Amino acid sequence: MDDQQVGLRCENGTIAAIGSDVRPESGDEVIDAAGMALVPGLVNAHTHAAMTLFRGYADDLPLMEWLERHIWPVEKRMSDEDVYWGTRLACVEMIRTGTTSFWDMYWHAHSTARAVEDAGLRAVTAAPLIDDSDPAKSQRACADADASLERIADAGGDRARPGFAPHAIYSLSERSLRWVAERAAELDVPVQIHLSETEDEVKQCLAERGMRPAQYLDEVGLLGPGTILAHGVWLDESELDLVAERGATVVTNPVANLKLAVGGLFPYLRARERDVQMGLGTDGPGSNNSLDLLADAKAFALLQKNAVGDPAAVTATETLELATGARSPLLAGTRLTEGDQADFLLVRSDSPELALGELDAGLVYAASGSIVDTTVVAGAVLMRGGRVDGEEEIVARARESAAGLGIVGG
Ligand SMILES: [Zn+2]
Repeated sequence: MDDQQVGLRCENGTIAAIGSDVRPESGDEVIDAAGMALVPGLVNAHTHAAMTLFRGYADDLPLMEWLERHIWPVEKRMSDEDVYWGTRLACVEMIRTGTTSFWDMYWHAHSTARAVEDAGLRAVTAAPLIDDSDPAKSQRACADADASLERIADAGGDRARPGFAPHAIYSLSERSLRWVAERAAELDVPVQIHLSETEDEVKQCLAERGMRPAQYLDEVGLLGPGTILAHGVWLDESELDLVAERGATVVTNPVANLKLAVGGLFPYLRARERDVQMGLGTDGPGSNNSLDLLADAKAFALLQKNAVGDPAAVTATETLELATGARSPLLAGTRLTEGDQADFLLVRSDSPELALGELDAGLVYAASGSIVDTTVVAGAVLMRGGRVDGEEEIVARARESAAGLGIVGG
């Protein structure tokens, strides 16, 4: 770690000791990490994991046509089991590519929680709340969201925690948004919402409310330190001031934004100037389609450099901070210090991609997630030598689910 040889001891899911003088004690399970570098686990701060089932299905279409004609009709038929196996498949990929914690928004969220627990990862899982901006549907939608919290808590545990996921300001009535704000504060649970992903969303908000999306979100009480704003592509300077002041976290999803051709880029440098809390996400595997966060870290850095015409604008080290949840307290990334949660990776530092040069630059610009050898979450070894237990069965079951839903030929 940091070019020093260290020992790390995990006890009860946390880092009990780390440093050059830490040696194994009798009874310890020992991993010999010769030829490896120790780095924090990655935090994928916005995804819809079970959408692995939609991989390679109806790609290359305009957003609304993709959703209305291909995704939503199939989602209506999805079962708990479908979401469970789709999420397990996503978890295999995340373990293989170094993600130890993720923020998820998807239907049957209790099944996501069960999959996360069984896979051994960490996640905040939440059921999307949508009422078609119809106040008459709000009461039912909010009651469902409330019930989902309990179901997630029952299915999950220490590692899969519940949250609220109001889908977006354009798919919810003001009543529901205000309800989520109050209820989340009362129960102290985090909130994830898509915000300012497309320019149309901004125009519609201005026309209907006379204010921009972040201002509206503040007005309904949802812009606080417990809220994740996925995308933030069109946030202007006044909104960034407000987001910084309220302490909400913006999660940028550069690859999904490119694939859906939203036509803009999260104004990262202006957000950084204001000390906005930030994170990095892949978004769902239906609109990325990869869950390899290191690949998206590279895309993030390159896009931001290019947007301002300055290769020095963003460094590899700060890109990794973003990808490991170190730039937002809400994302709770590990810092690899004593007392932290024991979520870490061993990457092959003697591999061709990482053997020469500076590690951070190698990880962001040269390597991909395939460089991860060992993934540990809460002190439990989820992958060693690049192999995840049960991988074949999980792929087979996810295939069966997709075939059953008519997504692939079987
Ligand atoms: Zn999303």
